[in-house]
Amino acid sequence: MSQPIYTVFAEEYRGLRPRAPVPELEIRFRRFTSLNTTIRLREGRLIVRLSDLLEYAPESVHRAIAHILLAKLYRKPIEPIFSDRYRRYTQSEAVSKQAERIRQTRGRKVLTSPKGHHYDLDEVFESVNRRFFHGLLGRPTLTWSAHVAKRMLGHYDAAHNTIVVSRVFDRPGTPRYAIEYLLYHEMLHLKHPVTVRAGRRCVHGPAFQAEERLFPELELAKEYLKRL
Ligand SMILES: [Zn+2]
Repeated sequence: MSQPIYTVFAEEYRGLRPRAPVPELEIRFRRFTSLNTTIRLREGRLIVRLSDLLEYAPESVHRAIAHILLAKLYRKPIEPIFSDRYRRYTQSEAVSKQAERIRQTRGRKVLTSPKGHHYDLDEVFESVNRRFFHGLLGRPTLTWSAHVAKRMLGHYDAAHNTIVVSRVFDRPGTPRYAIEYLLYHEMLHLKHPVTVRAGRRCVHGPAFQAEERLFPELELAKEYLKRL
């Protein structure tokens, strides 16, 4: 649903250095206990380490971080709108509380796997696969998010062929159509890779949207996601 972080970094790189080819990117979220971020260039690869506190930040915040880190690295001026946005986000009450909570629970290992308490993502994937794709889609790695994310409900990470689903869906009150729709949407990303036309990225193109409308409970599911 949101842009993957790789895309955000590549776009911000192009914004800062329009004539330079985007280097290979390696971006990892680390279990820092603070909002630590690092960037370095090694053998032509850009290596970025971000605190996992930032993993489910809104895309606009990811964009701000990308801009700030890249501008620093290439000694370009940092746009105040980005530094303001980042500072506001990290100083917001929600984020400081989350940081505090994580500091307290660090050390307890969070196991991520497709099997949740109420839904097994592998099982939901296969049933959606049979129902809408004749069982033809290869199953990527499916995993529940480590935290109960409400902004990033699901996303397909093409670089790692992984679909991450927010743990917010793993509870008894979640209607089956909601989690099926979420997976269906991410599976359509698998089937319809991002295209670039006239320099513009097309994530949810016409073919994607037409196929998405084939989901019978589309309106119900969208309504449910909006309420989360
Ligand atoms: Zn999407």
